[in-house]
Amino acid sequence: MQLYNLKHPSQVVSFTEAVKLGLGKDRGLFFPTAIPVLDDMETLLALPFVERSKKVIGAWLASELGQDTVDSLVEKAFNFDVPLVQVDDNRYSLELFHGPTLAFKDFGARFMAQCLNVLAKDETINILTATSGDTGAAVADAFFGLDAINVVVLYPKGKISVLQEKMFTTLGKNIHTVAVDSDFDACQSLVKQSFEDSAIRDGLHLNSANSINISRLLAQICYYFEAVAQFKQQNETLPVIAVPSGNFGNLTAGLFAKAMGLPVKYFVAATNSNDTVPRYLLDGKWSPNTTVATMSNAMDVAEPSNWPRVEAIVDKMGWSLSDIKGVALSEEQTSNALTALHKAGYLSEPHGAIAANALTQVMHEDEKGIFLGTAHPAKFNEVVEAELKISLPLPQPLADVENKAILSVDLPANFDELKAHLFKLLK
Ligand SMILES: *Cc1c(COP(=O)(O)O)cnc(C)c1O
Repeated sequence: MQLYNLKHPSQVVSFTEAVKLGLGKDRGLFFPTAIPVLDDMETLLALPFVERSKKVIGAWLASELGQDTVDSLVEKAFNFDVPLVQVDDNRYSLELFHGPTLAFKDFGARFMAQCLNVLAKDETINILTATSGDTGAAVADAFFGLDAINVVVLYPKGKISVLQEKMFTTLGKNIHTVAVDSDFDACQSLVKQSFEDSAIRDGLHLNSANSINISRLLAQICYYFEAVAQFKQQNETLPVIAVPSGNFGNLTAGLFAKAMGLPVKYFVAATNSNDTVPRYLLDGKWSPNTTVATMSNAMDVAEPSNWPRVEAIVDKMGWSLSDIKGVALSEEQTSNALTALHKAGYLSEPHGAIAANALTQVMHEDEKGIFLGTAHPAKFNEVVEAELKISLPLPQPLADVENKAILSVDLPANFDELKAHLFKLLK
């Protein structure tokens, strides 16, 4: 697989290099020079998830890594279920939260960890990543205990739930966590600055595990095929798919799936009041506001880092941005959406509820849709319990960390202090 830098198209790298580098020159995102198209969709969709995923990922990577390596990466990374659950007459939830850290980020993080483990043999790797919650847990869990890999996770102090925080700050060993006294965008920008700093880059061989890493996106393509495969068993029409979006890695993966030939009617980009993209889709003006904190905090992103890839796919395929529908929900609408789902007999959480409601807002009567259930309701138990006036049992992975101590270091949103800390940790 070859990829080019969207900012400097003359920089062309292999998948192996792109996984190790994360970002290209001038923070440019890597984008594939060609998108493989899968034929015989019927046969492909009839396969079980893991077998089909080997073919989907093999279409990108078999020529570089060999199909046997792809098979083993997929088998190790994808070891949990992906059920499509019918919610009402015209909506389904694709439950992506049955992995070890209860959020869809397990797919990308586990696949990336397996890739790095194979591709970077004999080198020490230092991963620096920013999280608005779920990435931290998924990345920490996926890399925990891998000897040659150190992980540093930055997150906005006090802006994620305590249980969410405990899932990745209590591990220790090769997992280091930093609570930054600011918001997620500040964390993300500290990570970007670190990658641009030549002393850090050359001295620490940093890698990012954010959704800017191409390996994560390839993994996420697979569950869109699973969604359509299960949907097709019960429906004649093509599904509309609504994606709760923050950094837009998830939507990017969905668009790649469609570009590979997956039959999807259209996509809906659903956000909270951090609505840069829905506004842009309406008026063509890119004007991010300051990030605001919401109850769907994994989507509190005003400057989504994957957006240039969305535009690149649309451009390459000759599609129009107007084929993507944007919907933004206020806090009140989110709360109502969560309650309405619960009344319909489906327990969700704010991120999934936003996408579920977005479907209702855009779909015509003859359409049916799938929304992505990106996190387990118990992962956002404080909000869910307060909104729905119910009490939720803690699933095992959360019960396990509930009484553990948080091992994070507190830092201000200051690059020089972070830099000193990184050199102290990683040498
Ligand atoms: C990360 C996350 C999102 C947003 O996904 P992007 O790929 O960043 O758009 C949505 N919901 C949950 C629960 C998440 O953790």
